[in-house]
Amino acid sequence: MSSRIRTKVTGKLKETVFVGLLRASLAKNKLEQKLKKAIGRGGKTDLPKRIPIKAAGKMKMLMGRYYVKARVAQDDPEKKIAWITSGGPVEILHAAGVTPIYPENHAAMIGTMRMADDTCGVAENRGYSRDLCSYARSDLGSIWSGKSPIGGSPRPDFLVCCNNICGTVIKWYQQLQRIFDVPLIVIDAPFQYGEDRPEAIDYVKAQLQNMMDQVGQITGKKIEWDTFEATARRSEEAIKLWRSVQDLLAHQPAPMNSFDTFIHLAPIVTLRGTPECIDYYKMLYSEIEERVRKGVAVVPGEKYRLGWDNLAIWYKIQFLAKKFGEHKAALVVSTYAASFGYQAPYRDENDILRSMAASYIAGYINHGLDYREKELLEMARKFHLNGFVMHSNRSCRAYSLGQYELAKRLEQKHGLPTLMIEGDQSDTRAWSDEQVATRIDAFMEIITSRTT
Ligand code: SF4
Repeated sequence: MSSRIRTKVTGKLKETVFVGLLRASLAKNKLEQKLKKAIGRGGKTDLPKRIPIKAAGKMKMLMGRYYVKARVAQDDPEKKIAWITSGGPVEILHAAGVTPIYPENHAAMIGTMRMADDTCGVAENRGYSRDLCSYARSDLGSIWSGKSPIGGSPRPDFLVCCNNICGTVIKWYQQLQRIFDVPLIVIDAPFQYGEDRPEAIDYVKAQLQNMMDQVGQITGKKIEWDTFEATARRSEEAIKLWRSVQDLLAHQPAPMNSFDTFIHLAPIVTLRGTPECIDYYKMLYSEIEERVRKGVAVVPGEKYRLGWDNLAIWYKIQFLAKKFGEHKAALVVSTYAASFGYQAPYRDENDILRSMAASYIAGYINHGLDYREKELLEMARKFHLNGFVMHSNRSCRAYSLGQYELAKRLEQKHGLPTLMIEGDQSDTRAWSDEQVATRIDAFMEIITSRTT
């Protein structure tokens, strides 16, 4: 047997064994229990029992299989792994057969498992300021300490960083480049203050073209245009499906809440461009649509409907779901989950790369306050909101800067109450249950007084 075939057979065998183990352990392993607790299915509560979303089990298998494949790829010299930012053009990696790994996803898992204080502390002991994003501190601290809920991420062959989400990622990825001594591809996405500028779209398109060439050089195999185009079209289909799933939450009562959407966005971040991603969201859509048909309410007796701005607070999802649920309030839309469903108004059927470039600068977080105000108002209208909950996120200045101004505009110009919750997506040290609970109670009193 040639060494190439031997590597493939061993890889396949490893994958089968890993998937079997994963399947066997999912039912009652510690990770599962902790996840259930974090997302609000496993904790004690006086609220009526919620009907679990069946697709969640499939998603865990899908994501588990993806991580197993990545682990196998690490030992296969013919396979390449790239670490990429959540807003990066992953379609190019999938088209090249490269396995994408998301340090942000890893950091979110660290946050969900309440390991972030520990891993952030490791980075802080090396001189990284607590003002730096906790995703960056968590992930770097995990690399240096080996502490991780999934045994760490497979080592990258190269890195892809797109600054359409923030400037922090540039410095973070430069540090990763120093640690792993691998090539770094940077996609520079200009910030958009008003309408998306055509010259910005051209600038990003040229970089995407360049990235295709660079990835081809790294893998030793040119990316075929037909393969890329098919991947990009699958990505668009998955994004549309993800938007349709979220749109179902406009129904009253909401069949699922935004806390669920935080969990179910894993495939759209990681696997967009693959057939599995499309299959997953088709399945999720039909399950949620069935809930709508049957009148299943995520918050039984739903009275109030709220929007959410900024990243999830991963370690407090259960707490928040329970607290709002006690007030009969459902969170029905979030700018965070929606940000993985953005598509630019510009679309050219004959220029898929330019269309993709336009979408990669079109996200909520890459826009100025006037744009954000319009988006929030549109969400309030479409999802019949009584108010907005704004997570003033200590980690994410790109998201949080301007939130107080936005809250003022929503309240004063449009009469929409807002609640500002101070927190952090992963680092628990900035959080107080008592303070937040008191603020939620006061906010819900305001909403109740305005709606009765
Ligand atoms: S949480 Fe904010 S600051 Fe951190 S990586 Fe994401 S976008 Fe950047």
